[in-house]
Amino acid sequence: MRYLHGVDEENASVHIREAEKQAVLATCTRAKCGTVIVGNNHVIGLGFNSPPASMESQRRCTVDKSSYDKKVTDKTCCMHAEQRAILDALTSNSNRVKGATLYFARVDENGKSKAAGKPYCTLCSKLALDVGISEFVLQDENGICAYGTEEYNDISFNYKPEI
Ligand SMILES: [Zn+2]
Ligand SMILES: [Zn+2]
Repeated sequence: MRYLHGVDEENASVHIREAEKQAVLATCTRAKCGTVIVGNNHVIGLGFNSPPASMESQRRCTVDKSSYDKKVTDKTCCMHAEQRAILDALTSNSNRVKGATLYFARVDENGKSKAAGKPYCTLCSKLALDVGISEFVLQDENGICAYGTEEYNDISFNYKPEI
């Protein structure tokens, strides 16, 4: 992982702000996340988190995760912003996905920028790696940082909560 500086940081912050605009649209009641995927200097995919197909009948935001059996693979409630943006890019710009950069952002309930925190979502890290996204860019407490997608997947699987 590396922190971006100078022009790289400025360019990345434009896309992080776009990802925050997506996050504002999120309807998940647990978290508001947004993603923008950029390939060849074009925005090729957008996403925010909400129930699958935006079906209220599929909303699970208030279900206690510990109530699911351990065999239930994915205990998160909504479609993730990264999943949505990757599916969007594959649908509308499939030839630009390989080597593209994914920008991820969170906002609080008032739509204000919020640090993304340490990577832990292995659903999204595997998916991004599998489709050939090259970098995951996000804003943490110390600035805007870029992870190689393979590194991001390893870090996600090794996540431990801070004590
Ligand atoms: Zn949710
Ligand atoms: Zn995810």
